Amino acid sequence: MEILRTVSEVREWARRQRTAGRAIHFVPTMGYFHEGHLSLMRRANADGGAVIVSIFVNPLQFGANEDLDRYPRDFERDRLMAESVGVDAIFYPEVSEMYPPGYQTEVRVKELSKPLCGRSRLGHFEGVATVVLKLFNIVTPDRAYFGMKDYQQLRIIEQLVQDMNLPIEIVPCPIVREPDGLAMSSRNVYLTPEERAAATVLYRSLQWAQAQVESGERNALKLREGVYERLAAEPLARIDYVEVVDAETLQPVERVVRPTLIALAVFFGKARLIDNCVVCP
Ligand code: AMP
Repeated sequence: MEILRTVSEVREWARRQRTAGRAIHFVPTMGYFHEGHLSLMRRANADGGAVIVSIFVNPLQFGANEDLDRYPRDFERDRLMAESVGVDAIFYPEVSEMYPPGYQTEVRVKELSKPLCGRSRLGHFEGVATVVLKLFNIVTPDRAYFGMKDYQQLRIIEQLVQDMNLPIEIVPCPIVREPDGLAMSSRNVYLTPEERAAATVLYRSLQWAQAQVESGERNALKLREGVYERLAAEPLARIDYVEVVDAETLQPVERVVRPTLIALAVFFGKARLIDNCVVCP
């Protein structure tokens, strides 16, 4: 497995893969790997081609009061984990490599960036869209793999690819969970044991909503209120939002008549956790 630190090293690597007739499969990450990340890498590998993973904690997508400085990092551990699932190369750039002095361009996917996490994390999705477009231009992948855990991010990248005519196939991958249902996240390390136990309420609330839809409930407000009540019953949970929206446009719906996203963001102490599920009538 190769460790690439500069843009020109990645370009050279990509040229070699193409010359060898291999497709390039790309998994962008912020590192501190867990099974969720590894599931994307395994999928990228199973699809054939050369697999490249980026590890970059992108300052542009963190707000002033967010966790950029304490975001967990362990490159050595990540390197071993990536190697164990057959990754061919890691792109691990310095911030100055991605944003050299004088850098000034940002990309905005206008409507999809506004609701849900866009409301509480101003500028977050501009940071995401900008870094992903840069990474796509550097890596020139044929396919890129994104987890449905960050559903809004996935939709924004799909729209970016469509709007900018990028010749890249976006592959959505299912949410990987702990045995008790908590969605895996690098940020779960922030949780105290009490908060970790309490955080299972997220998945339980989503499962309740899913069961309601399965037994015929179509009223979005009832689903939203039901999830909200379940979360609010957990004393350690501080709710940021619960929303029931169209799974494509991310606009609020009144009734579940098309694929519908139930999305939530909840603070447990210092950790802001997100989770979601897509329900279909
Ligand atoms: P991150 O390092 O948190 O930016 O995540 C990198 C990629 O892994 C993104 O596409 C995430 O959606 C995906 N990912 C993170 N957690 C999970 C999970 N629990 N299940 C599936 N994919 C995930």
